[in-house]
Amino acid sequence: NQTTAQQAESLEDSRANPLRPHELHSSRYFQLLKSRRKLPVSLRRQEFLDIYHDSQVILVSGETGSGKTTQIPQFILFDEWESGKKVACTQPRRLATTSVATRTAAELDVPLGDQVGYSVRFERKTSRMTRLKYMTDGLLLSEASKDRDFSAYSCVILDEAHERTLSTDLLMALLKMATSRRPCLKVVIMSATLNVEKIQSYFPAAATFEISGKVHPVQIHYLSHSTPRYCYCAVTVVKHIHKNMAEGDILLFLPTSGDIEMVCSILRDEYEDLTILPLYSALSRARQEEIFEDSEYRKCIVATNVAETSITIDGIVYVVDSGLEIRPVYNPRLRMSTVLTSPISKASAKQRAGRAGRTQPGICFRLYTEQTHRACFIPSAPPGILEGELASQILLLKVMGFDSVGTFDFVDPPHPEVYLRGLQDLRSMRYIDDKGTITRTGRIAARLSVHPKWLNAFMEGQKNGCLREMIDLAAISSTQHPIFLRPPPARFAADIAHQRFACPLSDHISQLNALHAYESAIKTENRLPINQWCFDAFLNRRALSEAVRIRDQLVVSLQNELAITKEVCRFEDAEYDTHIRKTLARSFFYQCALKHPDMFGTIYRTVHEGHTAGIHPESVLSEGIQEWMVYSEFVSSGTPYLQTVTAVDPAWLIDLDFFQDDSLPKTADGNFKQPLVKKSLDKARKKRDSLEEDLISFEIL
Ligand code: ADP
Ligand code: MG
Repeated sequence: NQTTAQQAESLEDSRANPLRPHELHSSRYFQLLKSRRKLPVSLRRQEFLDIYHDSQVILVSGETGSGKTTQIPQFILFDEWESGKKVACTQPRRLATTSVATRTAAELDVPLGDQVGYSVRFERKTSRMTRLKYMTDGLLLSEASKDRDFSAYSCVILDEAHERTLSTDLLMALLKMATSRRPCLKVVIMSATLNVEKIQSYFPAAATFEISGKVHPVQIHYLSHSTPRYCYCAVTVVKHIHKNMAEGDILLFLPTSGDIEMVCSILRDEYEDLTILPLYSALSRARQEEIFEDSEYRKCIVATNVAETSITIDGIVYVVDSGLEIRPVYNPRLRMSTVLTSPISKASAKQRAGRAGRTQPGICFRLYTEQTHRACFIPSAPPGILEGELASQILLLKVMGFDSVGTFDFVDPPHPEVYLRGLQDLRSMRYIDDKGTITRTGRIAARLSVHPKWLNAFMEGQKNGCLREMIDLAAISSTQHPIFLRPPPARFAADIAHQRFACPLSDHISQLNALHAYESAIKTENRLPINQWCFDAFLNRRALSEAVRIRDQLVVSLQNELAITKEVCRFEDAEYDTHIRKTLARSFFYQCALKHPDMFGTIYRTVHEGHTAGIHPESVLSEGIQEWMVYSEFVSSGTPYLQTVTAVDPAWLIDLDFFQDDSLPKTADGNFKQPLVKKSLDKARKKRDSLEEDLISFEIL
C-alpha cells in the first residue's frame, strides 16, 4: 500500500481531520501547515517516499531546522497508517522528546497523548490510540529487551544519531538484526550533517536521503585573549549586540544551569527591552515552551547544548558560544564518573555557529581564541559507548540472549577495560556467575526501571524490614536533579535549613528524611503552601515530586512484575537507622571505603581498588570521624570525592565473600595491598567471636 505525497497533502489540506473522524481542522492547524510546507523536507516529500518504499533502512541527513524531526515521522505515519502498527521516533534527550512531541501533536491538530504521544523514563503521555510515539532512546532500548523484533512498530526512527549515545548505538545494532528477521520493519536513521560516514559503513546497504537546507553565511569572531570569566564575557557581548547591532534574536550557549540562571538574572536587571529566556532540562515544561512564543522585544535565549541540534529555534541571527559544555565521563579504572566543564568539539562549535544562519546571514561570537579552537578542541566528541559505565547495558544484552557480548556487532566496540569492569561489577552484584552466564536475580534486575544494582538493595531490604526505604532511595537516586538545593549565594542558609533532615551517620537517611518530611508536609492541611515549604527548606520541589512519582511506579512494577511485596515501614523501631545502614552495607558492599589517617587530614581509600578520595564537603559525614562507609558515587570535579555516603559497621560485612582473605587485593609478593583493611576486618571478626563465646558461656550459666 504505497501512498504518494499528493494523496497525503490532499488529506492534510482537507477541512476534516483525517486522524480524527468527525473533527474539523482548526485555523491554527492551517497556519502551521503553511509554514510546514516551506520546510526543505516538505518540498521533497515524494522523493523521500520513493526511497522509503524501495528500501528497508534509510539514512537521512540534513541541516538542523530542515524539518527532519517534526515532518519525516508524519510522512511515515501517513504512509504506514494502514499497517495498524506504531511509528517510533527516538531522541537522546528528554527535553527534546517532550518538546517535539508537543509540536508534532499541534501540527497534526490532535491532543498530545492521543494519536501522537511521548514516552520518557517514568513519564509518558500515550494511549491506545497512539500511532506516533516520540521516546528517549533509552526507553526504546528497554522495550527492545522484552521484544527484540520491535513487533509493535512498522517503522523505527532513530533521530540525532550523530550524537552516538550509548542507547542509540545499541539500538542500531539491535535494529540491524531485527530487519533481517522482519522484512517489513523499516528503519530510518536521522542525523545532522556530521559523523554520517561511520553510520553509513555500519549499514552498507542503506539508502541515503540528504537534505541540503538553505544555509546563510555566518561571520565568526574570536576573542584575541582567552578568558576564564566566560559568564561576564558573555554578558558583555550580549550587551554589545543589543546596543549596537541590527535586529535579530540572540542565542547564548553556556555549560551549566547555574551559569544560565546567573547570566539571565544579570541581563534581566539591566534591560527591560530584551526578552531573556533560559533553556535547560531542569526547567518546567511551560518555561521551556516560552522560547517559541512571539515577543515584542528582541529575544535572548540562554541555553545548554540542547539548542545545538535537538531543538530548532527560528529567528536567531547572533550566536554567542562559550565553547564549553558539561559532559559526564566515566573512568573505568577508578570506577569514577567525572562531571567536568570541558571544551566542546570542533563539530559542536560548527553546529552552534550554524544556528545563526538559519534565516539570514548571521554572526557568531566565540568566547575563546582562534588558537584555542585550533589546538584544544577535538574534531568531534567520542561516541557514548567509549565514555560510559556499561554494567547495566551488558546485563541488558545478556538478558536478551547475547551471551558473548565481547563478539557483539557494535558500531564501535567498547574499550575492553570498560567492558571487563562492567562484567566484574555484575559479578559482584551476583547478576552473572563465574562463567559469565546471567543468573536468575540478574534477569529480574535487568527488568527494573531503575539501575539494576538496586535489586540487591530491595532483596536485602525485604530481609531487614526496610524495603520501602530502599525503594525510596532508588527513586531519589533516579531523579534528574539533587533534592537538596544549595544555591551559591545562600549556601550557609541552605546548610542550616538542611540540618533538620540530617542523620549524622548517613546521607542516604538524610535524603529519606527530606523526602518523608515533604510527603507529610503535603498531607498536612492548614500548613504552608508546599512551594513555600520547599523554598524555606531549600529543597528542590520538582526533584521531590519526581522522586515520589518514580517511587509509586516502582512499587507498582515491583508488585506486579516481580512479586516483591510492599513492606510496612517501621518508623518507631529504635533500630530503624541501623537496619537501613546495614542493608546499604550488604547490598553496596563493593562500594566500600575505609578511613586512612593522613597528615593532611582525613582520606578514605576504596577497599578493593585502593583509590583515595575525600568525603564530599556537602556530606553529613564530611568531618571524617567514621571508619567504614559505603558510597553511592565516586565523583570528581578536580578533586576526587565520595558522594552520598553512609557509615557502616564492618561486622555487617565480614561474612561476605568479598571480604574474605582470598578476595582482598594483594601485592605481587602475596602481602595484603591494604593492611589497614585486613586489620580492621580481623578486629571485627575477633569481636564477633568473643561475643559469641560470651553468649555461649551465658547460656551455659
Ligand atoms: P530538524 O529536525 O531538521 O532540525 P525540526 O523538525 O526540529 O528540524 O524543525 C522544523 C521546524 O519546526 C523549525 O522551523 C522549527 O522552528 C519548528 N519547530 C520545531 N519544534 C518547534 C516547537 N516546539 N515550537 C515551535 N516551532 C517548532
Ligand atoms: Mg531534529
